[in-house]
Amino acid sequence: MTESPTLTVTAGGVKRKPSIATAAAAARVVVDMAKTHASVAVAMTIRRIAIDRPERTIGLVPAISAPFAALARDASRVGVVLSAAQLAACERLARELIDRNTKVNLTAITDPAEIATKHFLDSFTAFAVRRWTGREHLVDVGSGAGFPGLALRIAFHASSAALVDSAGKKCRWLEEVAVTLGLDRVTVHNGRAEALGTERAHRGRYDVGTARAVGSLADCIEYLVPLLVVGGDAIVWKGKVDAELPAASRAAAAIGAEVTAIVPTSSIGVGDLLPGRHLVVVKKTRPTPSRFPRTSADIRRRPW
Ligand code: SAM
Repeated sequence: MTESPTLTVTAGGVKRKPSIATAAAAARVVVDMAKTHASVAVAMTIRRIAIDRPERTIGLVPAISAPFAALARDASRVGVVLSAAQLAACERLARELIDRNTKVNLTAITDPAEIATKHFLDSFTAFAVRRWTGREHLVDVGSGAGFPGLALRIAFHASSAALVDSAGKKCRWLEEVAVTLGLDRVTVHNGRAEALGTERAHRGRYDVGTARAVGSLADCIEYLVPLLVVGGDAIVWKGKVDAELPAASRAAAAIGAEVTAIVPTSSIGVGDLLPGRHLVVVKKTRPTPSRFPRTSADIRRRPW
């Protein structure tokens, strides 16, 4: 498991409450960052302040394109109100993704309007399925191009996000784009979730775990639940879910959790935009027995 030195600098370097974010704090981040990322430091200063204090930088936020103006409207259906700076960050992430995708295969979705709906809005549906406090530490397993983890971090800037992916090229992208966007409290972990779940620094540490398009529901439960605090929620994005439920229930019972909700997108007001999708919420109810998560070889050998 390799923790990104890049993001440790940006995310771990500043210990402060988001509610008292100041331009001075942002400047301190940049001083930290400048030691390793001199070329992006100035751009970062502007974007960090823009995200934390939009009222100071309104003139710096570029005009929003039609697909992302639509995203602002659609996101409000699931209770997400995006500032101009947050929307600009979403749009910038989309642009960077489209550009990087010409060199490295990160996503099959490359049209800005589709990225707005199928990546960002789909990620934001997590806000409609649990009560968020703004203090959650989030772990996103199999982040890929950054969904849902990076999207949630942009929309919900009080939380921290640990992004986990076993693919080095995805992790390099995640590190670089988080720096480009000036997002702090983001860490990138290149490795398998089942290995991270055995590490003291990560096991039982996160309030919310997310996984989209990463494996079966049962596998996602085994990846996510060991990483959660008791009382924490795993949220798994799925298309059809019925066939996977018996195995998922067995996995949840063994690992210390319960499937508490299966939420169709139609029930949270976005069924027309994201048809046939479900969010499965799994609550951790007791500490995970030490034999879980199993190794990836064992998970393959003995599926739930
Ligand atoms: N979550 C993203 C999305 O929905 O766009 C990416 C989905 S992509 C199909 C699956 C990603 O999960 C890949 O980037 C892969 O490397 C990663 N992955 C699969 N199994 C994993 C595991 N056990 N631990 C960490 N990453 C994993």
